[in-house]
Amino acid sequence: MLDSVQSSVKKAGRRLNFKDKDIDGFLNINKVHEFKIDLDNKKLDAFRMQHNNSRGPYKGGIRFHPNVDFDEVQALAILMTLKTSLSNIPMGGAKGGVVVDPKTLSDEQIEILSREYVRGLVDYIGPDKDVPAPDINTNPKLMDIMVDEYSKLTGDDSKASFTGKSLENGGSEGREAATGQGGLYVLNKTRKLLEIDEASTTFSVQGFGNVGANFADLAIKEHKDWKMVAVSDSSGAIYCEDGFSITELTVFKANKGRFADYNRTGVVSLTDKEFLELDVSVLVFAALGGVVNIENQQVIGAKLLLELANGPVDSAAQKALDDRGVRLIPDILANAGGVVVSYLEWLQNKSDEHWGIEKVNSKMKQLLHSATTEVYELAMKEQISIKDSAYTVSLSRLAIEN
Ligand code: NAD
Repeated sequence: MLDSVQSSVKKAGRRLNFKDKDIDGFLNINKVHEFKIDLDNKKLDAFRMQHNNSRGPYKGGIRFHPNVDFDEVQALAILMTLKTSLSNIPMGGAKGGVVVDPKTLSDEQIEILSREYVRGLVDYIGPDKDVPAPDINTNPKLMDIMVDEYSKLTGDDSKASFTGKSLENGGSEGREAATGQGGLYVLNKTRKLLEIDEASTTFSVQGFGNVGANFADLAIKEHKDWKMVAVSDSSGAIYCEDGFSITELTVFKANKGRFADYNRTGVVSLTDKEFLELDVSVLVFAALGGVVNIENQQVIGAKLLLELANGPVDSAAQKALDDRGVRLIPDILANAGGVVVSYLEWLQNKSDEHWGIEKVNSKMKQLLHSATTEVYELAMKEQISIKDSAYTVSLSRLAIEN
């Protein structure tokens, strides 16, 4: 993922006539904070990578995970900078976490870990410095704990030091569905700009977790004539020509169902390859990075791809897809809804307000529609792909040249 992000940034930087040394400088992490957390006689590695704050405080998730791939974390921190810039919000990019398997810890230990993480970083984070959020294995409850610890250490009672908090503790309406909702706003706007006929749209979704399920639910509610004909989880993929009921699938997953065991009339199982080959109007990636590469890109049957996951299509595959007319809406635009609503949460905390869902969604829609329009217009003007255009628009707003 890091190679892919770096090569897309370099390409866009050259288009903007930035010097190679300035682009390389931008790709470096500004500051890496590394420290140890002592938890019941075990020394755990904790870190925070602050990539860029030229437009505002660093912003990005905290993960608790036993395997941390630092190249991936660096790529994700850079992607955060690109997303905040592209959606034109005054924030930067970061990512951090602790190398630990939270499944081996009690609730009490997880609380101690969360508080220690804040203590280790207290001088480097805060509402105007770095505003972390949940990521893998962290959640609103842990953000509430971290805000509490930050407030005890600093006296700051704005709750604007972390986002993704619970609603009772300064969280924003709409945060849970934000990435799926944002992806739908971007998809609708892009299709309108590209003059793609909306009638009888079919789509498939790889990954039916928070992002994929919310996207599918909102898409079907808004467009009565759309059908989700295929969906997958880590156990396998399934297909239904008449379209799935999102409610039924949501109940099935809530009861810990695996799609490999989903047995209904009219539903068939698909291999990973068959899933990617489907001739659907839109293929939505909402699971993992690194799904499509130069070797398997030729099997893609859809004409429009939506990257709700980070980095599912690498840059070599994207170029090949582009050459054969497959359009791709890139992650830094497609999944920016999450960070946009995090920013709106931070704004609400700073002004001690709590907005209704309509206000939150309308502000998100406005920001994502204008980013989408700007990306589309540059793509048309320069005759480049939507992804190349998105990277160019984003970089053009960052103070890369000194
Ligand atoms: P999640 O854990 O809730 O759901 C992930 C889903 O992907 C699950 O259904 C899982 O079974 C499925 N999955 C895992 N491996 C798979 C495979 N090999 N094939 C098919 N499906 C597979 O995660 P999420 O919060 O929905 O996030 C999904 C993606 O979106 C991640 O890449 C995440 O980094 C990205 N993302 C999430 C947010 C957010 O706000 N949650 C924001 C930006 C980007």
